[in-house]
Amino acid sequence: MEKPAFLDRDRPDVPDLVVPGGVTPFYLAGRPVRGRLVRLGVLADALLTRHDNPAPVTSLAGKALALVASLASALKFQGSFSLQIKGNGPVSMLVADCTDTGALRFYVRTDEDALEALLAQTPRPLDRELLGDGYLALTVDQGPDTDRHQGIVDIAGDTLAAMATHYFTTSEQHACWLMLSCTMTDAGWRAGGLVLERIAGEGGAHVVDNAEAEANWETATILASTLSTAELLDDSLPPAQLLHRLFHEENLHVSHPRALAFGCRCSRARLAEVLQTFPDDDLDHMSEESGTIVMTCEFCNKDFHFPRKDIAADL
Ligand SMILES: [Zn+2]
Repeated sequence: MEKPAFLDRDRPDVPDLVVPGGVTPFYLAGRPVRGRLVRLGVLADALLTRHDNPAPVTSLAGKALALVASLASALKFQGSFSLQIKGNGPVSMLVADCTDTGALRFYVRTDEDALEALLAQTPRPLDRELLGDGYLALTVDQGPDTDRHQGIVDIAGDTLAAMATHYFTTSEQHACWLMLSCTMTDAGWRAGGLVLERIAGEGGAHVVDNAEAEANWETATILASTLSTAELLDDSLPPAQLLHRLFHEENLHVSHPRALAFGCRCSRARLAEVLQTFPDDDLDHMSEESGTIVMTCEFCNKDFHFPRKDIAADL
């Protein structure tokens, strides 16, 4: 006998992609600076092209993925790091998250008419123009036994990097420097980022005084500012070599790189469970003439087909 569709626990047909050196953590020994270089490589194209968005929205989403990838690499336990931005602009909602193992996913919700109007006026809008006014939240979820930590700030600044910097300086009272990029290249969409954090104390063994620490931080951000988008997104330039180019005079220590992966966690079983909670009338409405209910995962954009007769079997 054939297995009913709602018992089919197969994973959806999404790319099984892993980028081994996606995140390269580093620190500057003896200086109050640590950072992460993020390169999504082919994963950027695989994640971003599953959604049919105009280029400026795709670019914004890619930068959001690079941001959560860099933040999740600092997680000490199992869990995930999630970014949510909700505004009154044409992109009304942006969600991106990354687990401690580097599994990435995102979705955006857009108001198509408003987006078309903005792009007609401004073909290359700022992130801020896409998002409008609203809030940005970052959530660390490390499982049921831990406190869920969430910080929320107003959307401030023209770019996603500026919005995230505003978040860290106000919500976490933590100086940071960020560069996020996502653009279409000859090899497809590429996304990446460089994040510097000013840490309490210093990266190495000896204690430095405040003036020296301030000067070290300044120097690191000035050096980081020389990074170009082309270098950041160049797959053929190894991350360690790129970091060496920037920080070789600053006691650079490059740590073990971490992998990133295509990380949608949807499944037929989970969606079938959701469907089981709907009343019969709604299910009839959803299946219409075809007798099939189609549910689409917002994250990976995969359609799941459920025969109406297989749902709501708990009579
Ligand atoms: Zn999915």
